[in-house]
Amino acid sequence: MNNKSLSPRSTCVFVPGPVIVGAGPSGLAAAACLKEQGVPSLILERSNCIASLWQHKTYDRLHLHLPKQFCELPLMGFPSDFPTYPTKQQFIGYLETYAEKFGIKPRFNETVKLAEFDSKVGFWRLKCVDKADIVTEFVCKWLIVATGENAEAVVPNIEGVEEFGGCIKHTSLYKSGEEFRGKKVLVVGCGNSGMEVCLDLCNNHATPSLVVRDTVHVLPREMLGKSTFGLSMWLLKWLPMQLVDRFLLIISWLMLGDTSRLGLDRPSLGPLQLKNLSGKTPVLDVGTLAKIKGGDIKVRPSIKRLKLHTVEFVDGRKENFDAIILATGYKSNVPNWLQDESMFSKEDGFPRKPFPNGWKGENGLYAVGFTKKGLLGTSIDAKRITQDIERCWKDEAKHTSAFARSLLLQSNP
Ligand SMILES: Cc1cc2nc3c(=O)[nH]c(=O)nc-3n(C[C@H](O)[C@H](O)[C@H](O)COP(=O)(O)OP(=O)(O)OC[C@H]3O[C@@H](n4cnc5c(N)ncnc54)[C@H](O)[C@@H]3O)c2cc1C
Repeated sequence: MNNKSLSPRSTCVFVPGPVIVGAGPSGLAAAACLKEQGVPSLILERSNCIASLWQHKTYDRLHLHLPKQFCELPLMGFPSDFPTYPTKQQFIGYLETYAEKFGIKPRFNETVKLAEFDSKVGFWRLKCVDKADIVTEFVCKWLIVATGENAEAVVPNIEGVEEFGGCIKHTSLYKSGEEFRGKKVLVVGCGNSGMEVCLDLCNNHATPSLVVRDTVHVLPREMLGKSTFGLSMWLLKWLPMQLVDRFLLIISWLMLGDTSRLGLDRPSLGPLQLKNLSGKTPVLDVGTLAKIKGGDIKVRPSIKRLKLHTVEFVDGRKENFDAIILATGYKSNVPNWLQDESMFSKEDGFPRKPFPNGWKGENGLYAVGFTKKGLLGTSIDAKRITQDIERCWKDEAKHTSAFARSLLLQSNP
């Protein structure tokens, strides 16, 4: 890399290979695939470690939601002694070994604030700021966006939030129910995280209630002795999605009963069709439903407003709570830093083209991990991007060596 000083507190770094923004599983997968094909890359990561979402923003009891065979990164499987659903610590350990195996050394504490294509020179320019506020400009031919679907917490505006007086935190800051022992806690949001946090609170002798604002598909994590996800994937090889959905709903009804009787109405579209169209993931139940059935977790409608330690719901009910956990999800942060007109939507920060076509934009711009298909999508993107860049990289290397040879011939005729 060639460094050129811009000012005492800013530097310009030319990166010969691709720059990858984000050292989560997606950034690591892209870097490993590129490395395997002889293409060096540089990862810029705002945090101080790899997989910061997993290391800093997830709760202690988290396991992979999907079986391990659907979550492995390219070129390296999980150790065979890992359980079907590895723990968060096991997953982090796997990613650390992965980074080590492929010699991936991200530049940590570098937040990309701006990236834009300089059409005059045909390169991307990235402005990064480190912890000491030192600005570095990185210049590269290929830019791979790997900042994830979960880059920033979504925190809803709730009326009266400043009056509540108790603890209000997003699940990204929740570690364990231990902190809430003996407390009445309201969990807002009934996705996989909200459901699992409720269960964790129950197991730690807190009293949780769950706000369910929307319809939701709850499926057993396993059915007929197989993982529901694996079984669905297998059935989709032979049957249309609508039929697989019908099958999943019948088995779910037999195993879990009618969830609408518990206040969890199902959407009109089936779980796979809904996931496919909107990206909304079905909840894979790990025991929360039994706690709802048993009355340990109460289901509540949307919040109307908050008052001192009191929540008023839209149905008029008022209840006291000590704390509120917002399991209200995450969003992409790409529109905040990437100047790009065509590839990413300004509205949601996802590629405009849906899977499997969202991985490539113009002028050497790529996206890995925005497929709404979890780590399986990450692997597919990383391999496609590598094939594409590798071709250009090898062509360029040929031109560069031909150019170097001609220079040599000129100087030594
Ligand atoms: C609780 C939870 C459980 C999940 N379980 C599963 C599962 O079992 N199976 C599955 O397939 N998927 C699962 N997912 C979904 C997803 O596959 C994982 O979250 C995975 O971590 C996504 O990897 P990623 O690298 O795309 O994004 P992230 O892991 O979010 O990594 C993105 C990285 O980019 C960095 N970054 C962001 N902005 C900038 C910037 N401007 N400059 C520099 N760096 C930046 C972040 O700090 C972060 O380290 C889960 C998600 C969550 C939230």
